[in-house]
Amino acid sequence: MKKYLLTLIVAGTALIGCSNEDDNNETAAFSETEIASAIKCSNLAEGGMCSQNMNGAWGELDETLTDCYGAYCFEDGSPAPEQPNLTRWRGGEGHLIPVYYFDKVDPRFEYAMDEVERLVGYPLFDRKGVITLDISDSWQIDYSSLPTDWGFIWSQGTFTSSCSSGTVSNAPNSMGISSYFVGLDYAISKPNNRNGFDDYHHFSWIQLDSSATPDPGCTTIASDEVAVHELGHALGMNSHFEGFGDGAAFDQNAERVLKTMYHPQNPPGQPFDALYIAQ
Ligand SMILES: [Zn+2]
Repeated sequence: MKKYLLTLIVAGTALIGCSNEDDNNETAAFSETEIASAIKCSNLAEGGMCSQNMNGAWGELDETLTDCYGAYCFEDGSPAPEQPNLTRWRGGEGHLIPVYYFDKVDPRFEYAMDEVERLVGYPLFDRKGVITLDISDSWQIDYSSLPTDWGFIWSQGTFTSSCSSGTVSNAPNSMGISSYFVGLDYAISKPNNRNGFDDYHHFSWIQLDSSATPDPGCTTIASDEVAVHELGHALGMNSHFEGFGDGAAFDQNAERVLKTMYHPQNPPGQPFDALYIAQ
């Protein structure tokens, strides 16, 4: 199990350490077939471009049913499916994702969520506002002051692991890939408590910009599109493809993939070969 976990983490760094993509580098528009195949690849893969599918998305829960060793695990401990289906947040009223801003508001946080909700056409996020946390030890954070025990936490300037412009991880100042618990209907219920946190929690950190500490040479600033890109990762777009980290950070192809993944006609569990393709 340990070796498997290590493999996933290594694969994950290629995925979550997103380079500062050129926003103006528009790619050719995908056909409907290409949209469907990009969704299947991105949603299921653990890392790398969609041309290098890692096939490691579905893991297993440990014996305590708390740690998921993959991008997704069924929350009842069911084994990895042989032919997985569309895996996504449910969204909409009653199923909003609690979202926090670490220390301060940044206009890119709001921009990214506004853009995603505009594309899918219904609310996904319950914006809880600014929080303060002691993150001096990334692995021992006390989250008990927050009104929910799960959600997304946006932060700016806490990403020290590389000169990349953003990442989604399971802790601040970390490249530890975030993963998720899902119901048997393939609806993501919450991030999982991964890698043996002593303080049990279910938060995904969406981090923008390189931090100047400890490497003063790392001053990469994330654009608005990179912020949308990182949010896309947290919403189940795992692997990069043309127009999503390959070329542009988030262009027309990425928009259409997101709109299709979250279209009301494609609920969680929709077979990949039966997707309604959004325009
Ligand atoms: Zn990325």
